[in-house]
Amino acid sequence: MADNEKLECLRRLQEVLQEKFALEQQVESLPADLRKEEAALKATEREYEDLRTLSEDTVSEAKSLSIRYEDAFQLRTGYEKQMEFLSTQREYEALSKQLEDAKVQEQTLLKQRNSKNKEAERLKAELAAKEGEVEAQKTKVEEERSKVDTELSGIQEKIAELDARCLEIKGSTVSDELYSKFCNIVRKKSGVGIVPVHGQVCMGCDRVLPVQFVIDLRLTQEKNEIDYCPYCSRIIWYEPLDPETEKNYIFEQLESKGTGSESKAAAAEDKSVQDSDSYDESMDTGFEDF
Ligand SMILES: [Zn+2]
Repeated sequence: MADNEKLECLRRLQEVLQEKFALEQQVESLPADLRKEEAALKATEREYEDLRTLSEDTVSEAKSLSIRYEDAFQLRTGYEKQMEFLSTQREYEALSKQLEDAKVQEQTLLKQRNSKNKEAERLKAELAAKEGEVEAQKTKVEEERSKVDTELSGIQEKIAELDARCLEIKGSTVSDELYSKFCNIVRKKSGVGIVPVHGQVCMGCDRVLPVQFVIDLRLTQEKNEIDYCPYCSRIIWYEPLDPETEKNYIFEQLESKGTGSESKAAAAEDKSVQDSDSYDESMDTGFEDF
């Protein structure tokens, strides 16, 4: 059977469209790493802010402990001076007790102040390290961003070239309407929008077409027109096979082998589960209008 020009043109278009859609997917997935790095930077910036607040609080706590320690120091030395001027045993005992308490308080505050100062120093070092981390991540994000921008513009350029090539191939052989419909089919059917029919079987969805439908399809094809699979909505064309091979795709043969229309349909449904939602829909509701 003589092949028709429109079908030939669509097959060539499909090759270019597959390439174009693959590039479009790259455009969508390319910035994923960048988004990840931007999120990591935000998280580190938040950690830095929390650390800064903690560090400032610790410094002011250390200052306050320092002042309280100074007061305790003054109190203790004051009591010690007073000890020199005591006259009675009773006064001595009372002041001794106060002096002991003041010494304990002074030592406690000294320990607390020292440990708070150490903590403040540690936080200061941690904060400086975190600041370095933020800066390094910022640089990384910037580099990734400019890399992505460069790659994206390269891909966009290629996509524009492929669009131009499609229009060139399409010429006046395929109408604008058919072209846009075909683009949608190829996109929705994972890059395969035009498939051959072997015997009675659509090679896109594996379903068995009615005999009369295939006869009509061959006539349509001869008139340089096209038709669609009533099950998966792809553009179909009858591809002659050698008679021995073709027998495997004839309804009666499929029936007798126990791989008739029902099991074929079941196989097609299995396939539809793995496919996109639209594919599923097309199986449930029949023909999908693109
Ligand atoms: Zn089909």
